[in-house]
Amino acid sequence: MRRIITINSNQLDRSIETKKLLSKKLIDAGFDVSYDFHPDAELVISIGGDGSFLKTIHDFDFPEIPIVGINTGHLGFFPEISPNDIDIFIDSYLKRDYILQDIPLLEASICTKKNCSDVFAINEVVVKGDKSRTIHLNLLANDKHIQNLSGDGMIVSTPTGSTAYNYAAGGSIVDPSLNLMQLTPLYPINTNAYRCFTSSIIFSHDTIIKIAPEYRFENSILIVVDGIEYRFSEIDNIQIKVSDVKIQLLRMSNYEFWSRVSEKFL
Ligand code: NAP
Repeated sequence: MRRIITINSNQLDRSIETKKLLSKKLIDAGFDVSYDFHPDAELVISIGGDGSFLKTIHDFDFPEIPIVGINTGHLGFFPEISPNDIDIFIDSYLKRDYILQDIPLLEASICTKKNCSDVFAINEVVVKGDKSRTIHLNLLANDKHIQNLSGDGMIVSTPTGSTAYNYAAGGSIVDPSLNLMQLTPLYPINTNAYRCFTSSIIFSHDTIIKIAPEYRFENSILIVVDGIEYRFSEIDNIQIKVSDVKIQLLRMSNYEFWSRVSEKFL
C-alpha cells in the first residue's frame, strides 16, 4: 500500500532546501510525497516557523491526520524538529516512536445583521478596532453580561495560543493539557469614565463568550484569527467557544511543554 506524506513549505531559501532534502529522504524510505493536500496522506509536514505552521493548517482546512513541523522560522514553538534532525525524525516515525497531541480549537461565529460566518482558530481570535480609535465591547458569558471593555480590543486564546499574542499582551502561559479559553484585554481603559477589568479572565471549556460591539463610528471592528484578518460590515456579535473539532500534532517522544517554554521564553 502507498504511504503518502504531504509536505508544505514557505518560500524561504532554507525551507526550500529543507523540502528538497526531506522529499529525497522520505522517497528513499519508501514514502510517496505530495506538495498539495492529498486525501490519502497519513501525515502533513510543515516547513517554516509558527506562522507557516498555522497557515498550513488553515490552508488544508484543519486536516484530521497528524501534522508535524520542521523549524526554519524565528521562534518555532509549534515546529519542533530542526532541519539537521531529519534522519532522526524519519527513523522515529518509521518506528512509531512519537506522541500525538490533541489540540482543541476555538470556534467563532461572527454575526452581522444579515448572517453568521464560522471560523476556527488554533492560537486565538482577536477583536480589535480597525481605525486606531477606542472601541467599546460588551462582554457576556453564557448570555450573562460581565462588563463593557473600552480600549484597543481583546484576545481570546487557546492554551496552545497562550504563548503567542496572548503572552505578549500580558496574558498567562497555559499548560496545553488544560481545556479552557483565556480572554486578555488589549490596553483596557480603567478610569472614572470607563471601568474595565485589566487582567486576563479564564473561562471553562463549556462557556460561550459573546462580544457585542457598541458602534460609535462605522465599521470599526476587525477580527483577526491566527493572524488572518476578517472585515465584516456591521458586526452585531461574535460568539466564541471551545470547538469539538481538534487537530493532532505529532511530537517527538521526548517533547515536554515546560522545557520548551523555558528554552524559548525564559
Ligand atoms: P507571525 O510573524 O507569523 O508570528 C509572530 C510571532 O509569533 C512569530 O515569532 C511566531 O513564531 C510567533 N508565534 C506564533 N504562534 C505562536 C505560538 N503558539 N506560541 C509562541 N509563539 C508563536 O505573525 P502573524 O502572521 O501576524 O500571526 C500569526 C500569529 O502571530 C498570531 O496567531 C498571533 O498569536 C501572533 N502575533 C503576535 C503578536 C505579538 O506578539 N504582539 C502580534 C500579532 C500576531 P515564528 O517566528 O516561528 O513564526
